[in-house]
This record gives sequence, structure tokens and C-alpha cells, in this order.
Amino acid sequence: MRYVDFGKTGVKVSRLGMGCMRLPNYEKDGKTVYDEEKSIALIHRAMDLGINYFDTAPFYCDKQSEIILGKALKGGRREKIFLSTKNPIENGSGDDYEKRLETSLKKLDTSYIDFYHFWGISLQDFVEKVKAPDGPFVRAKKLKEQGIIKHISFSFHDSDVGEKEGDNLLEILKMSEGVLESLLVQYNILDRAKEPGIVLAHEMGLGTVVMGPVGGGRLGTPTKAILDLLPGKFVSSAEMALRFIFANDKINIALSGMSTTEQLEENVRVADNVTPLSAEERRRIETMVKENERLAGLYCTGCKYCMPCPAGIDIPEIFSLMNYHRVYQITDYAKKEYAMIGKVSWKNYKDASACTECGECEKKCPQSIPVRKQLKETHKTLAV
Ligand code: SF4
Ligand code: SF4
Repeated sequence: MRYVDFGKTGVKVSRLGMGCMRLPNYEKDGKTVYDEEKSIALIHRAMDLGINYFDTAPFYCDKQSEIILGKALKGGRREKIFLSTKNPIENGSGDDYEKRLETSLKKLDTSYIDFYHFWGISLQDFVEKVKAPDGPFVRAKKLKEQGIIKHISFSFHDSDVGEKEGDNLLEILKMSEGVLESLLVQYNILDRAKEPGIVLAHEMGLGTVVMGPVGGGRLGTPTKAILDLLPGKFVSSAEMALRFIFANDKINIALSGMSTTEQLEENVRVADNVTPLSAEERRRIETMVKENERLAGLYCTGCKYCMPCPAGIDIPEIFSLMNYHRVYQITDYAKKEYAMIGKVSWKNYKDASACTECGECEKKCPQSIPVRKQLKETHKTLAV
């Protein structure tokens, strides 16, 4: 395993991190059951292979992930790894923030968290909740002094962005007062909107972790469109996606949610590959991804001029899912994401079926996209 300095936090981390959001499970009586024994064995195997950064969160795996990870770290393993978990910032109350931390500590059965995240925050959350008087920001600093939190971190999820996608991440970093020590953000070969934020975070000395390096499963199964990006060069699209991340020295950790030993060993093999992607290979991938983005742009460039929609639809977000289907043939992923609209905090908008056909968006679209017609088509294609 290769290790790097995690920003200026003073610790060295493995370039591959283990995300514990997709632990081994099976279906029983129509319900998902998390297999504790297999999960613990997988975590131990990851440690044996040199992974030293393990990420979980209170709601992962039907709230079982923290408990299982805690059990896996018994027997002297806890001190050998860096443990990352998250606090869902529901409000600006410092007391509530501390209560949620206590719950995580109990579930993990540990006395401290190495990297404790303000979870999935937007710029608005950061200003109004995290930085509320005597709120999470103030309490996190106090808990760090007490040694309960070793490093203060944040993960960013913000679809309501500024001029360009990713701008709000830059704003949070500028307001971080040297308190935030590491950043966790979605980033992969198909979704590079947060790249300027990653670069700035790295320059500021924050550790940088990317989640979804293989597209949260999007790139896990090779699709012809993806493999055609560099024919014959990679075993799988997942390998190409991971090597793309490892070729970027602004990113310290690629965090991958792994469910099987095969997946784990394959990812470790890629992480251990000492021949990084050559500059030429990286350039070819970027050129081809850009060409595919251009194709996607023929449908919708994501400029957001059509927003806001009076019916509460996030038109560009919905079209970007449609593009995963149209441009990259990553249809299963697009359908899963579409099904989550309105059900998770970072998809707090309506799906295409809410369109009242008022036509306001079409008047503002510089691409002259027949938004109403395409929304109907999208719903027909992606709603399961
Ligand atoms: S036509 Fe539909 S999508 Fe466009 S602004 Fe009106 S309600 Fe929103
Ligand atoms: S204005 Fe048109 S191109 Fe821009 S995001 Fe809306 S639909 Fe897409």
C-alpha cells in the first residue's frame, strides 16, 4: 500500500480508504440484513492489506455500519487506523451536535474520533447551522481540545451552487478559519465539478478525500462507452477511474465503498500499482471525457439559467442523470439516483413528474432545449 501525508494533519494515510457504506449483506423476508461476520472479516482483510483510513456514518447500512466497524476494531486494532465518521448537522444547536457525537462514540465503542465531519453540508448549512452562536463549529473546537475529536473535517454536498458548480465549496474553505482540517467530497472521472475546491483545500493544507471514485457504482460495471475512453488499456472501468484519481497528487485518499474481498483486493492492486497513469494517458482520458461532456451538453449544459422552476424541479440535476443514461449508458445508476429525489436531504426537490408545463424554463434556456418534452422523456426512462 502507498501512503501519503494527509494534508497538514501530521498523519500518513493509505491512498485507498475503505468506505463502510456498502458492507456485505443479504436479503431475508424482503429486508436487507447486514452480515456482521463477513463485514468484520472484510474490514480485517482491508487492514491486513494496509488500508488505515476507515469511513462510516450514523445512517450507513441501516444504522449498523458504526456498530459493525466498532466491533471490527476490537483487539488492539482501533489505534492502528484512522476512524472517520460524521455528524448530520440538523440544526445550529451545539447541544444537539454533542448528543449526536455521543451516540456515534457509543455505537463505535470508542473514546475518540480521528476525523469527525460536519456531514454533507452546503454553504447555507455552514453559515446558518455549523457557525451558529455556540453551535457545532464552536463545540467541535472545544471537543478537539479535550481530545475527543482529533481532527475537524467536513463533507460537502451542495446542489444549490453559485455561478459555477463548486463555487460554494470555495466559499466554505475561505471561511474555515484554519479550523477545518480535511475535506470529503464527491469526485470522479465523470463528475469533476469540485476539482477547484479540492485544489484549494490541498493548497490550504487540508487532507483531501474523494468519495465515489468509481462513481458510487456508476463505473463499477464496465460499459462500452467508458472502456472506449482508452481501449485495451484497463481491465475494468473501475480500474481506469481509480487510476485517474491516483494520478492526481492533490487527492490524498480515494474512498471506495467495498462489499466483497474480490473488490477490495482488486482496488488494492490498483492502488499499489507503482506505474501511475502517464501524462499522455491522463490527457487522452480528459479529452475523451470532454468530448462526452460536449455530447451531454447537446442536451443540457447545466448552466441553470432555467432555474428556479416554480414547481420545485431541479431541471439541470435531472437532465444530468438523463445524460448518464444517454451518454454513458449508466442507466441503473441513473435510475437509482432518480428514485432518491425528494427522499434524501441533498436531493430536496421534485422529480420531473411535478412539471406543470408553465413553460417558464424554456424561455430562459440558451440551448433552446424543449425542457417540458425532455422532462417527460426522462421520467418515462428513469422512473422505475
Ligand atoms: S415548464 Fe415545468 S420544468 Fe419548466 S419551469 Fe414550468 S414547471 Fe418547471
Ligand atoms: S437553461 Fe437549458 S441548458 Fe441550462 S440548465 Fe436549464 S435546461 Fe440545461
